[in-house]
Amino acid sequence: MKIDLHASLRAHNTFGFDVSASHLAYLESKSDVVEFVSQASSSKQPWQVFGGGSNLVLAKDLPGYTALMQIKGKSLLKESPTHFYIQAMAGESWHEFVEWSLNNGYPGLENLALIPGTVGAAPIQNIGAYGVELEEVFDSLEAFDRNSQEFVTLNKQDCNFSYRHSIFKEEPHRYVVVSVCFVLPKQWQAKLSYAELTKVFANQQSLKPIDIFNQVCAIRRSKLPDPQAIGNAGSFFHNPLVSDDLYQQLKQQFPQLVAYPNGDQWKLAAGWLIDQCGFKGCVMGRVGVYEKQALVLVNHGGGTGEELLKLAEQIKKKVKETFGVSLTVEPVIFN
Ligand SMILES: Cc1cc2nc3c(=O)[nH]c(=O)nc-3n(C[C@H](O)[C@H](O)[C@H](O)COP(=O)(O)OP(=O)(O)OC[C@H]3O[C@@H](n4cnc5c(N)ncnc54)[C@H](O)[C@@H]3O)c2cc1C
Repeated sequence: MKIDLHASLRAHNTFGFDVSASHLAYLESKSDVVEFVSQASSSKQPWQVFGGGSNLVLAKDLPGYTALMQIKGKSLLKESPTHFYIQAMAGESWHEFVEWSLNNGYPGLENLALIPGTVGAAPIQNIGAYGVELEEVFDSLEAFDRNSQEFVTLNKQDCNFSYRHSIFKEEPHRYVVVSVCFVLPKQWQAKLSYAELTKVFANQQSLKPIDIFNQVCAIRRSKLPDPQAIGNAGSFFHNPLVSDDLYQQLKQQFPQLVAYPNGDQWKLAAGWLIDQCGFKGCVMGRVGVYEKQALVLVNHGGGTGEELLKLAEQIKKKVKETFGVSLTVEPVIFN
């Protein structure tokens, strides 16, 4: 296993923050994972495993041990009369895996196209977009368990998925995910609950998975900044879930409020709340809020994680004062 000392993480986080890791390991096999966990644990220093760094705010140099998950491989694991079971190793690019699944005749992941990052990180926050969440297509995963010091298989129940949440958020440094298996019905059905997809495809006959894939990619490219061009981590805040009472109260006060029913609660559009507070497009030194989408915080170049977190605090404060709603940050913060 290769380890670099005092390595820059600038190219390994999509905000492009220029911090360093005192030890940076590259995990290319399951035996690298065992070696890394053993070495990092015996050092008694903190350790963490990253994928593509697209859901991180790195606001300081990282002491201890950091690893980049780079184990590759994807295959059809098995099939039943009704379902395909496809597996990818944790270091595969999520988007390339989605493309591969479609090209090989295993549709069902197309709504999740173009989400940056790795397959191994996808269960961590139960990624979701355009009407589909990972848990709906998830079968199981394999991970190295720091507690038992062995590889374990976790099924959907074990993972305790909910909106941008899983067991991995509850026990952050316990598991290193090494592969994920997805279960996809052979009888494909288009998932068009998301308003922009409904609008485009409602009356289209003989719709194909690739049509949804292409449309999702087009919408995402038009709305979200490309991290190669402008540093960001996608949505910076969760959409807050509120009670029906609070929703009714807010709706009366703010008739334009954007919200979606979510069981017996309501999910408020955090981007709308932030926009109403006047932050859309704002620039604070070298960081700011994306001009086309208030939910996305950006690094205009040379900014730091600290600067970004200061801006995030200002946004949270103003949203709380205006709407009485607390925003929570989506990316994982190291400060
Ligand atoms: C432009 C843009 C758009 C985005 N759109 C969406 C979206 O639509 N929906 C959505 O849900 N997310 C979205 N995201 C967020 C992000 O892409 C996802 O959260 C993605 O799954 C993160 O993958 P990663 O490999 O980059 O993880 P990282 O950022 O490297 O890590 C994230 C967390 O997962 C942990 N982790 C990573 N790999 C492993 C592993 N193998 N084992 C154990 N823990 C691990 C890390 O320690 C960290 O806590 C977007 C981000 C960007 C930049």
